[in-house]
Amino acid sequence: MHELSICQSLIDMIADEARRQAFNRVEVVRIEVGRFAGVEPGALAFGFEVASRGTVCDGARLEIVDLPGLAYCFACEESVELSDRLAPCPKCGGGRLQPTGGDELRVKDLEVV
Ligand SMILES: [Zn+2]
Repeated sequence: MHELSICQSLIDMIADEARRQAFNRVEVVRIEVGRFAGVEPGALAFGFEVASRGTVCDGARLEIVDLPGLAYCFACEESVELSDRLAPCPKCGGGRLQPTGGDELRVKDLEVV
């Protein structure tokens, strides 16, 4: 499962951070997931639970912050929100779009003890 390996690398990163900042336990992990990141939130939550066992994240609550898919439309000269990576501009129907957001998959912050 793709989401499990994502969670394993997130937790590895948090474990490194725990060593650097000398905390022992994480209560909340907040991650930002863009609409086009290609991960399924339910699978991510499950992967996190499995991957966190026996780590500093054991028992932590995973909070997923959804970020919209964003693109800059050259015709409208503004940023628009897309429901699909290949969708046309919702305002003018044009296809000259520069993706600007939606691929995010990162830890936003942690609440630690
Ligand atoms: Zn447009």
